[in-house]
Amino acid sequence: MLGLMQHQELMISAIVKHAARHHPNGEIVSKTTEGAMHRYNYREFEARSRRMVRVLQGLGVGWQDRVATLAWNGYRHMELYYAVSGMGAIIHTINPRLSVPDIAYIVNHAEDVLVFSDTTFAPLIGAAAPHFGKHVRGVVIMCDRANMPAVKLPDGMPLYCYEDLMDATDDTYIWPEFDERTAATLCYTSGTTGRPKGVLYSHRSTLLHAFSGGMADVMGLRASDRVLPVVPMFHVNAWGIPYGALMAGATLVMPGRFLDGANMTALMNDEKVTMSAGVPTVWLGLLQHLQKSGDRLGSMQRLMVGGSACPRMLYEGFDAYGVRIYQGWGMTEMSPVGTYNAPKPIHDGLSLDEEYKVRIKQGRALFGVDMKIVDDNGAELPWDGLKSGHLSVKGPWVTNAYYGDEPGSALDADGWFATGDVAAIDPEGYLEITDRSKDVIKSGGEWISSIQLENIAVGHPDVAEAAIIAATHEKWAERPLLLVVPKQGHTIDKASVLAIFDGQVATWWKPDDVVVIDELPHSATGKIQKLALRDKYKNYLLDK
Ligand code: ADP
Repeated sequence: MLGLMQHQELMISAIVKHAARHHPNGEIVSKTTEGAMHRYNYREFEARSRRMVRVLQGLGVGWQDRVATLAWNGYRHMELYYAVSGMGAIIHTINPRLSVPDIAYIVNHAEDVLVFSDTTFAPLIGAAAPHFGKHVRGVVIMCDRANMPAVKLPDGMPLYCYEDLMDATDDTYIWPEFDERTAATLCYTSGTTGRPKGVLYSHRSTLLHAFSGGMADVMGLRASDRVLPVVPMFHVNAWGIPYGALMAGATLVMPGRFLDGANMTALMNDEKVTMSAGVPTVWLGLLQHLQKSGDRLGSMQRLMVGGSACPRMLYEGFDAYGVRIYQGWGMTEMSPVGTYNAPKPIHDGLSLDEEYKVRIKQGRALFGVDMKIVDDNGAELPWDGLKSGHLSVKGPWVTNAYYGDEPGSALDADGWFATGDVAAIDPEGYLEITDRSKDVIKSGGEWISSIQLENIAVGHPDVAEAAIIAATHEKWAERPLLLVVPKQGHTIDKASVLAIFDGQVATWWKPDDVVVIDELPHSATGKIQKLALRDKYKNYLLDK
């Protein structure tokens, strides 16, 4: 017997309809590329999103066509999120920090039919467009007529102005309902190894991820929140915030291209932001700004950090400002959030030091996600918080295949997706990522966590950034080598840096040497590119 309940497909358009009807005064506030503030409410936003569907239809966008964006976090990008998915097409957000060949590769791999671009990326479009295939029918610049940049496109590829197109149409569109498993958004992993690979989310996976991500022990989004996603809308759908915030009726504050500490502090205070999310480097920049300027964050309550491990000094730094950091872990293949770190009753009464040791873990699984760790032979390992193994995950917002591949081809026989991360899980289910599989250091057959060593190294007062790589060693096969970038105006004393590990890790974990360099290479999502470093320094200990 089936339950006697109404059936509704889980549609992304249902979110914007809900926001407009039940939170008409919730707002999207945007710092535009030109620097001025733009604000409107969810009712106006929903009407403009429907108007954008009319624009897309007018440009020939049809069922399941891919529409690309190269854009900052802002209201026009939000309109495209809802218009493109809502009409049954697929929004493909592109990371503008990728190289021109990578951008051209993914536009062609996705067979995008239109490319929308903020004015900032007009030069990038000019460089990439000659390499776009015939499927690209035009480029739309996301501005009004007055701000249109000059862009040279190949013959036969028209250039449009977003606001001109909007002015020339109407908002009579009615959102359709269709199968919730239909593809809605497409995001490529940044391809730290090999070519970028596409992950194709559905309406259903997007809504379930947003429901779970909004829960009290995850982002805990409320109508009274004012949320500033620093994480870009081109980095795994800004971790689901463009959906979750509207479900909750929270106001969204969009920073555009203004992501430095001073601008962010001003925007957070002016707009009374209560919650924000971003990668550790962003919060490091903000913290340094606060410490230097003496500014405070007046309304901010909590920061979500993810994308890379968050060092203890960031928790301590923001605690001093009355702002609490929460860590999440995930990946493009997981929509992206898989775990979030919120305390359990068992953590009541911990000493401050013990509390930090729990808080710097990546957290426990969201409802909907299951995880396990296995050894090199695939045997499941216990959750003792000590043994590290290869991490696999399952869940309705975890991918089963990369775009263009056979459905199910990214899973093992039991339906698990191998994350490529190495982790330990404690008896309470808190995940601690120790490495990417390819970055782990195998010293005499034992594993050393590069993440744990990096977290300790950045606690040294002279160190701005640190990376640990596996250097080839005659006796132990691999040994940890520490690469550090000094803080501006500081010099590095190697012995003092090495001394910081004493008492914090087993003696055999201590790096064999320290190399001081001017800067570390970063990927398009701000992660340290260890592959490049390993290529350069893997023989450092042998050559010494
Ligand atoms: P890319 O940046 O390569 O496109 P993702 O953003 O999907 O890819 O990155 C996913 C990876 O980032 C994870 O598999 C993990 O290694 C790392 N990661 C994400 N969050 C955390 C975290 N909180 N702590 C440590 N590593 C993390």
